[in-house]
Amino acid sequence: MTSEQENQDANLSPDSLPSAAERERYAVLVEQIQKFRSAYYNDDAPLVSDADFDLLYSELEALEALHPELVTNDSPTQVVGGDVSVAFAAVDHLARMYSLEDVFSLEELEAWLRKAEASVEKQHGLAPKWLTELKIDGLAVNLLYRDGVLVRAATRGDGFTGEDITHNVATIKEIPQQLHGSGFPAEVEIRGEVFIASADFAVLNEQMVAAGKAPYANPRNTAAGSLRQKDPAETAKRPLRMYVHGIGAREGLDTTSQSETYALLHEWGMPTSPYFKVLDTVAEVLEFIAHYGEHRHDLIHEIDGIVVKVDDFATQRALGNTSRVPRWAVAYKYPPEEVHTKLLDIQVQVGRTGRVTPFGIMEPVKVAGSTVERATLHNQDVVKAKGVLIGDTVVLRKAGDVIPEIVGPVVALRTGEEREFVMPTHCPSCGTELAPSKEGDIDIRCPNAKSCPVQLTERVAHLAGRGGFDIEALGYEAAAALTNAPGPDPADNGGVIAPSGPGVITSEAQVFALAESYPDPALREALAEVNVWREIRAKGAGTGTFQLVPYFYTKATAKKPSVPSKTTEKLFKELDKAKPAPLWRVLVALSIRHVGPTASRALATRYGTMDAIRAALLTADAREQLANVDGVGAIIADALIEWFAVDWHLEIVDAWAAAGVLMADEADESTPRTLEGLTIVVTGTLPNFSRDEAKEAIITRGGKASGSVSKNTSYVVAGENAGTKLDKAESLGLKVLDEDGFARLLAQGPDTEAAESTEVEQGA
Ligand code: NAD
Repeated sequence: MTSEQENQDANLSPDSLPSAAERERYAVLVEQIQKFRSAYYNDDAPLVSDADFDLLYSELEALEALHPELVTNDSPTQVVGGDVSVAFAAVDHLARMYSLEDVFSLEELEAWLRKAEASVEKQHGLAPKWLTELKIDGLAVNLLYRDGVLVRAATRGDGFTGEDITHNVATIKEIPQQLHGSGFPAEVEIRGEVFIASADFAVLNEQMVAAGKAPYANPRNTAAGSLRQKDPAETAKRPLRMYVHGIGAREGLDTTSQSETYALLHEWGMPTSPYFKVLDTVAEVLEFIAHYGEHRHDLIHEIDGIVVKVDDFATQRALGNTSRVPRWAVAYKYPPEEVHTKLLDIQVQVGRTGRVTPFGIMEPVKVAGSTVERATLHNQDVVKAKGVLIGDTVVLRKAGDVIPEIVGPVVALRTGEEREFVMPTHCPSCGTELAPSKEGDIDIRCPNAKSCPVQLTERVAHLAGRGGFDIEALGYEAAAALTNAPGPDPADNGGVIAPSGPGVITSEAQVFALAESYPDPALREALAEVNVWREIRAKGAGTGTFQLVPYFYTKATAKKPSVPSKTTEKLFKELDKAKPAPLWRVLVALSIRHVGPTASRALATRYGTMDAIRAALLTADAREQLANVDGVGAIIADALIEWFAVDWHLEIVDAWAAAGVLMADEADESTPRTLEGLTIVVTGTLPNFSRDEAKEAIITRGGKASGSVSKNTSYVVAGENAGTKLDKAESLGLKVLDEDGFARLLAQGPDTEAAESTEVEQGA
């Protein structure tokens, strides 16, 4: 082995000179990072996600740490990213603008803070106070005020020189042209982050879509693009805002800390963030980070992390700066919520009500803590509006618990191989021609509601779902096994498990015929024959080998005959147990369009029995009567009339009733209607009530269980980890109860000393 080869194989050895491979990698990294920075800062159109960019940047840092001789003055680690576009006049900042040191884990952050703390304590004998604020995802501006008058505004640029955007900044109402009050310094550079608030961004995008244009990809790039318009009149149309996060050069300003300066700037009319805090300990900083990690989407604007700064100016000065970042501040980045991935295909799926929706199949990618490979695209208009082509690199966003969304394509990365999505004309499940249910409807549907195998599967899974009969043993897989005959070997079908036609159940009317007490022997026997395709994961078999296996019955052996499996037995029992379900659950289970738990509960409360509902539907003023039920309304009234006019739908109701489904609510006199007229919001986790149980308890006592807090809310019940709803309740001065208080309220109603006495202390 030559020494050259040894060097190449050496896994980042610090003792040696950089190998040829390391030098080559270094050059590639520098070139890529410079290219990506240019697209991000100069064109406001990133080619890679921030997370991918950060990975490359970290790799470069690691390589430089190992081989400092590689570092040049213009390495991306030594300069602040961003150039000055020729479209703007270049202006020099009076004091340099820096970037921030990023850390990506809490361990790294804690180590950084402890080290800084020790260094400050050693120099000053006192631990620093930490000004902890949100890292707003926008772009930095530098505002120069002389004697209280805004004379110039500039972008950060390379930190020394920025772009003159004074006219554009003048369109941001929040930024005063003249500071309010008096006693201004001769000169001060006020720095802040320009952003677009999340709510404004949503409205902006609605307007774009309504105008037939592609929506903007994200608020950060839109804010950056808006502020760097050549025509200020264009900038004026965008809802730009700003929060202050620092100052640069100052003359005649004698504040001694950053927080004191914010207070003064606030008095002068500068927009300061409502979210920052001055904290004494590292533990408090970590708590702040955990809090906003959880409430990241409850804020006015998007954030990508938290910035922690030494508050005291003298200490900031003592710690100083590197060529790129201050040594007195650090940015902790939350896990990314926006990533780039390849859109491999767009396929369609048929839903419970026959709606055909396109969805994207992507190269699996990790985002916001989970791996995503599919995302709905809603309808063909959305596909068009987003402008995505099959084969595109796309921006994929998953914000917290929200379902993943394909935001749009990265057009600059197109190769010409991409192709447009064409909506199919026939149902992929049953071959029926697709059509909108009404003229002008965007959504197209499969009209074969009764027999389309996929629609039936969806309805059966839905009737057994948590809002319906809540039959655990009848999940989606079991529903599919019941309703579909297995199709061709998936190995010959591109790995896709497709049905070939109807299964043992051809209508949901038959479901209760499987119950223990009401079995249809023929149907039960047919279950023994049900097979499904299973992928074999045996060692060495690899993927793509499938076998037909019995689903509901065990496999017969020489010793044991085939018998219902344990889950199948459970299914038979659970079907029986479900029969006395309250009427609202039966209504939900019927898959009537628009009729969810709220409308079903309203109907059940008003009519009490299925017969009464059917009788109401036969009256001359049925539509008016139903629409007037609180919680129902005209659209649902129409949906009910339409649904109950179809014969095979009535057969379902009749078959379930014949099998013993109760179809009526027994008047329960034992539950006192203590909450009549009250609206109650439950938030957070209660030890003794699930969310559904709490809701049920409120409704059965005549109260209204609401999901959002308003001034009309009578009580807010706050469990553990109650979030913004509790904050809102407190700001509105509403009555807030803990679980004990809630239990007493349920038992005794309002205006009892007991209920009031366990109100959660407010404003804590
Ligand atoms: P940075 O965004 O990590 O941090 C510095 C900037 O944070 C400041 O200039 C300021 O604008 C902003 N900021 C927001 N809130 C702040 C607060 N409260 N206090 C102080 N500053 C605050 O650094 P950077 O050099 O601007 O950019 C690097 C980051 O930008 C990368 O980590 C990456 O996420 C992103 N980036 C992405 C691409 C891409 O192609 N996707 C390219 C370049 C940069």
